[in-house]
Amino acid sequence: MASIRKLHNQLKKKERSAVEITQEALERIQAVEPKLHSFLCVTAEHALAQAKAVDAKIAAGEEIGLLAGIPIGIKDNLCTKGIPTTCGSRILENFIPPYESTVTQKLADAGAVMVGKTNLDEFAMGSSTENSAYQVTANPWDLSRVPGGSSGGSAAAVAGDECVVSLGSDTGGSIRQPASFCGVVGMKPTYGLVSRYGLVAYASSLDQIGPFARTVEDAAILLNAIAGYDPQDSTSLKVEIPDYGISLKPDLKARRKIRIGIIEETFASGLDPVVSAAVAKAIEKLQELGAEIQTVSCPNFRYGLPSYYVIAPCEASANLARYDGVKYGYRAPDTDNLISMYTNTRATGFGAEVKRRIMIGTYALSAGYYDAYYLKAQKVRTLIKQDFEQAFAKVDILACPTAPTTAFRAGEKTTDPLSMYLNDLMTIPVNLAGLPGLSVPCGFDAQGLPIGLQLIGNVLREDQLFQVAHAYEQSTDWHLRTPQL
Ligand code: GLN
Repeated sequence: MASIRKLHNQLKKKERSAVEITQEALERIQAVEPKLHSFLCVTAEHALAQAKAVDAKIAAGEEIGLLAGIPIGIKDNLCTKGIPTTCGSRILENFIPPYESTVTQKLADAGAVMVGKTNLDEFAMGSSTENSAYQVTANPWDLSRVPGGSSGGSAAAVAGDECVVSLGSDTGGSIRQPASFCGVVGMKPTYGLVSRYGLVAYASSLDQIGPFARTVEDAAILLNAIAGYDPQDSTSLKVEIPDYGISLKPDLKARRKIRIGIIEETFASGLDPVVSAAVAKAIEKLQELGAEIQTVSCPNFRYGLPSYYVIAPCEASANLARYDGVKYGYRAPDTDNLISMYTNTRATGFGAEVKRRIMIGTYALSAGYYDAYYLKAQKVRTLIKQDFEQAFAKVDILACPTAPTTAFRAGEKTTDPLSMYLNDLMTIPVNLAGLPGLSVPCGFDAQGLPIGLQLIGNVLREDQLFQVAHAYEQSTDWHLRTPQL
């Protein structure tokens, strides 16, 4: 499918209708879904109704916004009124939200066309989308490999051309890592920039919603549509939102040179040499484009992973206490008293990874362990944040790989949770510090699998992040390659 701007112009010139564009997406979904399994549910009727409303506006001579008539996929942990929202979990199998999330409401108001809800690791816990209770999504570049996770469905849907853009959520890397594995752009905004109202909570102090797109400009346009203060979310920031898309320039030449810092510690052991070579080349390219490059140190970066895997499960254990067989759809049969109803519902409704995290979190928050684990992890979080603050005193943007490897094979890491967790080594510190981060395609390995460059911005400097990523993207042709399906 074409870019947002191109489709928008076609709509305005009446070369194509929104219904035609929607049909193109729905046909593509029908053709490739048997291979990809990106969607948990396709909302064809709903999409066509939204498209018709856009066409009616155009016919009436009304102004339409950039996202009007644009097909979009929504991660299935965002509440959509009257449309199932499962979080990839059995425990929410029959859950139909009675309300709409702020972001999907904003998109609907902008005339965007939701074509379906995308697959994810159960409650967004995972790095491969294999933890979904329903299906395993394939990587469009190699169907035997994972798309990354937890927003694997949203990443694969964009890479597989089933929609123009999509939304994911990122708690420890779940937008950036699948974007890297699928060769698309994925962006996690500053904590608080996008409302979490209606996002099913995993780890509330880390969760953020953000865009997937084939180009940086499309991602910027989508972020503009969903960002902004929302009184329904107590962590929502009251800030002025610039137009991220309008000021994108093809190079980095400015009166004051943009300074990019390479995080030294991310080029240590465990990194696939193909990934480090591609990222090093991308950094050279940024220098050619006018950036000033220096190396910076974030000594506590590597403690991000262990502290995250205490903090996130602790928050999850509290957030997931609400699924008890009473308040939501699923209740285990064969229960004879209240306690067995709770325990059987949770034992059969949750998958193995979710149960593992609830247990870790409950343990780490217990009297006697709280100080040793949870409090310690929070202190480490502060140190990581301080490292970033010191780095941003010297540079504008930080650069490193998005993931240590390219996409791995389905089943390769499912029996070894630790090796699965290691995927998020590079992305997690960004969530712990609440910073914006973005993955942009920067090459392919010998098997033809995409590699991602991660750019990290200072608080609320999404504008700089998009600018650097756009200039890089426009000087390369990685984003023009498409998988053969
Ligand atoms: N893979 C990480 C986890 O399993 C991050 C998930 C996410 O960002 N939602 O927790």
